[in-house]
Amino acid sequence: MDERAGVDAQRVAQLWQRESAGYAREHPRCLALRERARLSMPHGVPMSWMASYFAHPPVWVAEGHGAHFTCADGRRFLDTNVGDKSTFCGIDPAPVVRAVQRRAAAGAQFMLPTEDAIAVAEELARRWGLPAWQFTLSASQANTEALRLARHATGRPKVLSFVGNYGGHGDELLVAYAGRRRLSYLGLAPFAGRDIDAVQFNHVEALEGALSTGAYACVLTEPALTNEGVVLPDPGFHKRLRALTRETGTLLVLDETHTLICGPGGLTREWGLAPDMVVVGKAIGAGLPLGAYGMSAELSAAFERGRSLEGEPGELATGGTLFANALSMAVARAALTEVLTPEAYEHAARLGEHLADGLEAIIGGHGLPWKVQRLYPRAGIDFSGRLARSAGEADDDEQPELNSLLRLYLANRGIWEAISTAGPAMSVAATEDDVAAYLVAFGEFVREVSASD
Ligand code: PMP
Repeated sequence: MDERAGVDAQRVAQLWQRESAGYAREHPRCLALRERARLSMPHGVPMSWMASYFAHPPVWVAEGHGAHFTCADGRRFLDTNVGDKSTFCGIDPAPVVRAVQRRAAAGAQFMLPTEDAIAVAEELARRWGLPAWQFTLSASQANTEALRLARHATGRPKVLSFVGNYGGHGDELLVAYAGRRRLSYLGLAPFAGRDIDAVQFNHVEALEGALSTGAYACVLTEPALTNEGVVLPDPGFHKRLRALTRETGTLLVLDETHTLICGPGGLTREWGLAPDMVVVGKAIGAGLPLGAYGMSAELSAAFERGRSLEGEPGELATGGTLFANALSMAVARAALTEVLTPEAYEHAARLGEHLADGLEAIIGGHGLPWKVQRLYPRAGIDFSGRLARSAGEADDDEQPELNSLLRLYLANRGIWEAISTAGPAMSVAATEDDVAAYLVAFGEFVREVSASD
């Protein structure tokens, strides 16, 4: 932590000690489950992020409804992590529960298409303005297949992305996210990342320089970066990005896995963008496994073309046994047509705005330099006093001790804060009371952390 945060480091450390003890006292059963789990799972969790995203032990969940869940110790939380956007529909939306019951009773998987897939593809086409769609089980897999299609269609091996643009856990996507080939991630193929480059978001000159080589099959990016706090595009950035990609014959792939919580058709529609491909996942499956990517008519034709540009016969490397299974498609149909309605999006965005307004008022009331990020239903805090314009700036600005303390402090007061720097988001199941509850707990936090006694 540094002085830009405007609070005393010793006070933060003291509060951390006190809150950690409180957390341990309140979660004996969760802690015991973790110890038991250590005997059968590395790190004592079934998926490593379930532990690594917190500086405190995770809770183990018993059940959840709407915007809340209850842990194995019977403590109830308002969920503002929303499964890192995957439960934006709410935890148990009735239309999705009905669809699961109906479809599971009629067969969840055939490795054959069901009519629901057409309804989902048609609805995604209507929302994102791209006519053709394919399905996977996750957004990571959708990004991987989108890159294969881009390389196949253009005959170019390389991909350009932005530092801090997380596109999933594929080897080369992790390299682009980290922004360098010398990696802190272990276990990646030694040559992973050889064909993917990354420049800083909003740095138009670097983008021009890279694209002018004509070497890239596509640019892969989120419309606004969401995994390093929120990094918004500068005015005119997207216009320039689209012009440059067109001029250099480079495809534009927008990953809307997170930003699809901003509205029907995501930021593509909200901001009038014109990508060649769009990748989605998480919330469109309402918490069940589903990823998808949409493509232009030209790319759909390239997808079907069974020959390489050199004329060799072949097949595009896509697909998986459970991809587009009947259950995922039934759930996505229910989520898109009955839960993720325009009114639901408006409701969630309004709550996000009220949350951001409230955070700003509390911060201002205590004279702290912190800045509030805003992205429709999502808010967040930059503790260093500026809104980052790139992942490089966001990394420089991070205050991990303060961030960790905030999440622990909120957890002890019934708020399950978003992971890492993701910032709280309101699901379509949340209410004004939930916003108020978050702000009460946040107000207490700010009062304590900035107290001078
Ligand atoms: N794209 C973006 C922008 C993401 O943030 C993530 C995950 N956080 C993914 C893709 C990958 O999603 P999944 O882990 O569900 O494959």
